Amino acid sequence: MAEVINVCGLNEEDFKKAKDKITNALSVLCLRDKLGGNPFFFSLIATKTHNIVDSKTQAASTDGKVFYWNHEFLSKLTNKNVEFVMRHELLHILLSHCRPERVGGRNSKVWNIAVDYFCNALIEKEYMEIDNENGTSFHSKVWTGAFDKPISLDECLSLLEGKPSGYETDKFRLLSDLSVLNSTPEEIYEIIMKKKQDNKQGGQQDKNNQKGGKGEERGGGNAENEDGDGEIGDGEIGKIDDHMETKSTKEEVAHAVEEARQMMKSSRGKMPSYAESVLKELSDPELTMRDFIAKLCMKKSNDGELKNWSVFNRRPEHLYRRGANGSVEKHQRLYRPTKKGYTPKFLALIDTSGSMSDDDIAHGVKELKALLKVKGSSGVILPCDSTVKWDAATSVDNVNDLKSTKIVGRGGTCFNDFFTNYKEKVGGDFDVIVVITDGDADVIDIKLKPSCDVVWVYTRRDRVTTQSFGKSVFLKSSSL
Ligand SMILES: [Zn+2]
Repeated sequence: MAEVINVCGLNEEDFKKAKDKITNALSVLCLRDKLGGNPFFFSLIATKTHNIVDSKTQAASTDGKVFYWNHEFLSKLTNKNVEFVMRHELLHILLSHCRPERVGGRNSKVWNIAVDYFCNALIEKEYMEIDNENGTSFHSKVWTGAFDKPISLDECLSLLEGKPSGYETDKFRLLSDLSVLNSTPEEIYEIIMKKKQDNKQGGQQDKNNQKGGKGEERGGGNAENEDGDGEIGDGEIGKIDDHMETKSTKEEVAHAVEEARQMMKSSRGKMPSYAESVLKELSDPELTMRDFIAKLCMKKSNDGELKNWSVFNRRPEHLYRRGANGSVEKHQRLYRPTKKGYTPKFLALIDTSGSMSDDDIAHGVKELKALLKVKGSSGVILPCDSTVKWDAATSVDNVNDLKSTKIVGRGGTCFNDFFTNYKEKVGGDFDVIVVITDGDADVIDIKLKPSCDVVWVYTRRDRVTTQSFGKSVFLKSSSL
């Protein structure tokens, strides 16, 4: 059974209250679905440790192994609220929301908002389905206790615009909106980022009009600062948890889900509809361009080649030893190289053959944005159909340059020429080659495998060619 640990030194009475909240919530979760529980979630959390803390976390959080509860936050919640937060945390783990490879290089505040919307809406939907099947009314009880009515996505967007409406409440207003379930968290993220971008532009105009008047503050702050600092508290809107990096491996999570499935079989419990896709994603993850880039950057910056031995850390470290008179003295200076940032230089080949739609091409080019967001990165983009259009090569080193990409040719598809001749035509000094295609292509001879990384970005799933080298990614991210 779950263990509850008094990490922050609460007095006996307060700790008992906190512990009761956790165990009571677990006993609700343990009930059958139609009684308001969720045996699937229960089996995932039943043996976990819960640490009652005061400063480590502001609200609730988990790294997949241990759950952390701020005792002040916990004291405000009802058992039902605690149970909701437990479901929320488990969904983050199941759906890999807090893994660096999924977060990619995104603005973390906005990503947190996007995944919270997704989790909360998914929980709401589950309650509604149970209610529909059994004539119960669990959904209407979600927003009770410390939880006030939720913040819809539209309202959140207007909050980002600086128009708070009824947000000044003591209760927690969670981010939830069933309409987001038509989108992936990645798409919700894009919606919010676009809104922030529009605000910035609006703010910039206000600034120009008012010469540094008030519009500057509310408009969304510094155009260079993607982290959104200085904007109207978007990191705090609807916040019920801190998103810690997940420590459980995907295999561990998949194993736990599999165990839960076995338990469901024997107890007539219901597996959630998304459990199958969760298992598939955990055991056979589908890479996106961002995943690929995040992995590439991680790999490169862990490699010795990126350590810069000519620039040492400002504060040298030393080995110490005991001196003759018993004092401790510095023995040897330790030289540690500073880490150089990874600035990928890429060569992108875009399939402009007849089978690629204009949208495919536009979306493909957009994927390169993720690469160009890595600081200092640059690249060359080449169109290709039955022949490589060497003359139409476009150099890019920022996102705006993508607009000047020349798209020519609408014939067949042939990449052999490209892999045979690119070094001679555009140089061989690239870290990664990106091929954007719908997949209707010949398999390239393994002998042409370049020494740098290669990624095939597929715009369609039904014509994917298994290539003899390189990684494959898909334009569309996973649906959960
Ligand atoms: Zn969350």
